[in-house]
Amino acid sequence: MEGSSAVPGSDPFRVLILGGTAEAEELAALLAARPEFEATTSLAGLTRAPAPLPGKVRRGGFGGIDGLVRYVEAEGIDALIDATHPFAEQMTRHAIEAAARSGAPLLRLERPAWDSVPGDRWIDVEDVAAAARAVPTHGARAFLTVGRTELRNFAADRKTWFLVRLIEAPGEVLPLARHELVIGRGPFTELGEADLLRRHRIDAVVSKNSGGDLTSAKIAAARELGLPVIMVRRPASPPGPHPSVPTASDALAWLAAQTHRRLGRSK
Ligand code: NAP
Repeated sequence: MEGSSAVPGSDPFRVLILGGTAEAEELAALLAARPEFEATTSLAGLTRAPAPLPGKVRRGGFGGIDGLVRYVEAEGIDALIDATHPFAEQMTRHAIEAAARSGAPLLRLERPAWDSVPGDRWIDVEDVAAAARAVPTHGARAFLTVGRTELRNFAADRKTWFLVRLIEAPGEVLPLARHELVIGRGPFTELGEADLLRRHRIDAVVSKNSGGDLTSAKIAAARELGLPVIMVRRPASPPGPHPSVPTASDALAWLAAQTHRRLGRSK
């Protein structure tokens, strides 16, 4: 265990984790085992039944940057961890601005992007709208794993048949002319993904470059079957003075250093 800054009877170091990712969950678990920290994971609330998380959880937007600043101040948050998904651009921008305004130190926790390897047939596109334009040139049947809110980008495509995977049943009819829905939450296996692609006679896979192990099996399965992957590039990270780390244990080390700093300030 790293050097603990816990002082008996002292206030815990309050951490707000902006979550919605496996890394946020890992960090919440690491912090739950350390009494000197009190962590709250914040979820946007888009998933009706998220997987249970260690520590405290809050759900729903903050009401923009002002709302986030108010939350940080009212809850006495000592540090902010932006562990949102690489494609959650708005929340990341809000976190940077709210950290600057509140003075709370901010760390970005972001898993590395996937890199293509020999055998991959990636079509690199800049956003989901560009992926939708590319789909009809790569066959008649596509596997879509871009998230429910992005499906509207494919609504004008009346020719392609889509196999759509979501993590839970949607509350509304999907905006796609021809599709089948499968529900599934990672991690997936390469064997399972290859079987799914074969059974549905998929011609192309559409994916965001999310990175991480949870959903990478579809990329490996596409490679094995020689299928193209229309890969949506990550949005550029907004500039900010804050550091960025790739793993939950790196984030824990950064937080431990922040507790030492607070201890130094209070002496
Ligand atoms: P977004 O466009 O960056 O954010 C839209 C708004 O949703 C934010 O302004 C904020 O509302 C609220 N929000 C987002 N993340 C939040 C969080 N962790 N806690 C509280 N409020 C949050 O976000 P998004 O792309 O819709 O993603 C929503 C959530 O799903 C994120 O937490 C992200 O980590 C997760 N996720 C996203 C993707 C993806 O592909 N985008 C994939 C997997 C998981 P207010 O302005 O009212 O505060």
